[in-house]
Amino acid sequence: MTQHSFPPGSTIGILGGGQLARMLCMEAKRMGYRTVVWTGGLEAPAMALCDEVIEHPFDHAEGIARFAEMADVATVEFENIPRTTLEAVAARVTLRPGAHAIATCANREQEKTFLRQQSIPCAPFWIVSSNEELAIAMAELAGPGVLKTSAFGYDGKGQKKLTGGEDPQQVWQEFSSPRAILEGFIEFQAELSVMIARNPAGQIRCHDPVENHHRHHILDLTIAPAQVAPEIRQQAIEIATRIVEAFDYVGIMGVEFFLTTEGTLLVNEMAPRPHNSGHHTMDACVTSQFEQQLRAVCGQPLGSTQLMTTAVMLNLLGDMWPGVEQSPDWSVIFEDASSALHLYGKKRAIERRKMGHATFLGDDAKARAESAKASLLAKGRDFSAL
Ligand code: AMP
Repeated sequence: MTQHSFPPGSTIGILGGGQLARMLCMEAKRMGYRTVVWTGGLEAPAMALCDEVIEHPFDHAEGIARFAEMADVATVEFENIPRTTLEAVAARVTLRPGAHAIATCANREQEKTFLRQQSIPCAPFWIVSSNEELAIAMAELAGPGVLKTSAFGYDGKGQKKLTGGEDPQQVWQEFSSPRAILEGFIEFQAELSVMIARNPAGQIRCHDPVENHHRHHILDLTIAPAQVAPEIRQQAIEIATRIVEAFDYVGIMGVEFFLTTEGTLLVNEMAPRPHNSGHHTMDACVTSQFEQQLRAVCGQPLGSTQLMTTAVMLNLLGDMWPGVEQSPDWSVIFEDASSALHLYGKKRAIERRKMGHATFLGDDAKARAESAKASLLAKGRDFSAL
């Protein structure tokens, strides 16, 4: 019989060892849970915080066996895990969310097809696997669009913006991905996201929707709560609720939206795990997204999502470091008494790498975050040319 709830003292298996796993391990430790992190052999910020590490590649039979043996219940910190591994893990240990939900969110084609099947609003899209199909899709779209790889796309990687006037054959040849989707280009007034959690008893709780701003296609600032009409925030929560119910989902999910210039919400992406745009919850909410993931995955009642104060999260990317191995002067954050600095322990500050984040609390949080960002960037290394 499936065990539904796992008390403190149980071991949580985490597939992936990045910063999301690291922050999950910190919460787990606080709450008396043990953790085993399967890094896949990559540089793993979670290694310093977990109880056990597995470094095999994600398709390694011994890795699966050791992981399943050590973990009482398993979850993911990123979705690009081979489906066969997810299924092999799920056959031996309770995996939350389930392999189907994780694999669907990992593949844009399956993700968008799921949204269409559920009649959940998203950008118009076409599945494309040849230059002929791209030609048909571009003709039907008849306007600007974004071509995106089906798999392994994140932070704007594997994407090409199209005006609609290009030669499909040349575009397809240069894109060099076996499968892709062509999406209509959305004119939006804002990008929003919501963190939603569901536990095995079907209890659902949502953190307040937030507003996201990007820099070089990577999340830059998250503003909580989103500065949009209450009806829009409510709609975002309703759509996210339909998504987790349709998956019979257990765990936490980040749902990203475009708020179009006409005021309609369209789902852009779903992340079957904690999300960068939920980091402010660690300092600004009663329950952080990581504690909520643990509560959901361990079959516990969910925590309050109440936002206790306005918050702005600033991502600290590698370009804010004066040198690849030379840290910024953090006094710019510390001098702000209502800020919290989070660093992920990564050694080399490659320009686009997420090195940490800082949360600013209070009514003027956005201005303070912008000012800290400007001083960090002024002493960092510009990569706008990349
Ligand atoms: P994604 O990796 O799909 O989240 O895309 C990264 C960013 O590219 C998004 O946050 C948007 O700013 C932009 N973007 C992606 N798809 C579209 C679209 N269909 N229309 C307009 N902007 C888009």
